[in-house]
Amino acid sequence: MANDCLFCKIAAGEIPSTKVYEDEHILAFRDINPVAPVHVLVIPKQHLDSIDDFRPEHDELLSKLFAAVHAVARETGVAETGYRVVTNVGRDAGQQVFHIHLHVLGGRTLGPVA
Ligand code: AMP
Ligand code: ZN
Repeated sequence: MANDCLFCKIAAGEIPSTKVYEDEHILAFRDINPVAPVHVLVIPKQHLDSIDDFRPEHDELLSKLFAAVHAVARETGVAETGYRVVTNVGRDAGQQVFHIHLHVLGGRTLGPVA
């Protein structure tokens, strides 16, 4: 676990979250400040700062992350209506939590990206 990382603490169960999906490597939970009726964060339990840290050795984890997005879309009912997957990297993207997370957004018509 990375020191003082909020999402590592959520992954470890030290800070509560509303879980939507969990397996050995991945956790998905409701965003505390949702911007859409469905707003779920999908994270690897392993700490990496952002998707910019992905390397070939993470291929399997990357695949599991997207398999979890697939499961979350079904669990939350947006698979049929559509959804958006967003991930912020660094300052200009406004990344606030430096532990990889994919935002899964849906449940309403979403505007243009950025
Ligand atoms: P980002 O700006 O991409 O780094 O997104 C961070 C997201 O984490 C924001 O949408 C926050 O609302 C969300 N967030 C922060 N703290 C928590 C928490 N304790 N539980 C769930 N979501 C959180
Ligand atoms: Zn972390």
